[in-house]
Amino acid sequence: MFSQKKIFLGLSFLSLLILGAGVALLLWLVTPRLELIGRWATLAAAAAAGLFLLTVSGGLLLLFLSAVTERDFLFPRGKKQVTVRVLYPINLVLGWLLGIGKERVGESFVAFNNALVLASRARLDRSNLLILLPHCLQRTGCGRRVTNDIGNCRRCGQCPLGGLADIAGQAGARVTVATGGTLARRVIGEIQPTLILAVACERDLVSGVQDAYPIPVYGILNQRPHGPCRDTTVDMQALSAGLSALLSRPVAWEPAKRH
Ligand code: SF4
Repeated sequence: MFSQKKIFLGLSFLSLLILGAGVALLLWLVTPRLELIGRWATLAAAAAAGLFLLTVSGGLLLLFLSAVTERDFLFPRGKKQVTVRVLYPINLVLGWLLGIGKERVGESFVAFNNALVLASRARLDRSNLLILLPHCLQRTGCGRRVTNDIGNCRRCGQCPLGGLADIAGQAGARVTVATGGTLARRVIGEIQPTLILAVACERDLVSGVQDAYPIPVYGILNQRPHGPCRDTTVDMQALSAGLSALLSRPVAWEPAKRH
């Protein structure tokens, strides 16, 4: 949804304006010295600065267009790396200066990244889809060892894991319940997925997108009615919509009966 992406888009646009202003200021500062060398030196520096800004803004424009329209303007894969490695840390600092919390910037980044994943859906390799779930989705007090194998869940309907196991079966995806980032990274290393749908809090999703790169990660934020890391839930409709979009076929979800 555009409203979720707009914080990240706005901050990215602001960082582009700041970069442009910084380059213009630098050029203005060095121009008197360049004039001593010759007029050609000033013109060469201005041309180099213009070319640099044109390249950066052109790349960002393609990113923005892809994220807003969810169409594939990202022909080289490296463009997405710019979002993950460069734009996110810059936007975090800008957000902090403007009083926008880390959580909101992270959530917006996840929405922005999801839009980029969907924009490149024609190029996605769906042969080894992994659904990565956090352990905090399991009901506190349930003794089933779902981290070993989600097949150990008896689908009692008291937490989302039973439904998630069913939906993963429908999607033909592997599903893993990880107790933390280290285990998640180990699972990714072992399974070598080609595509990941991850459920987590915004902090873990941001680091997951960064750690898993270049494997595309589509993120679904978990809901925390009991506070962080305890009896969390997930919007199953959003999850099935995300899976359907990734797989380009409907993946339906029906609430499990409690027993
Ligand atoms: S659905 Fe029931 S059995 Fe499965 S993990 Fe949740 S509480 Fe345990």
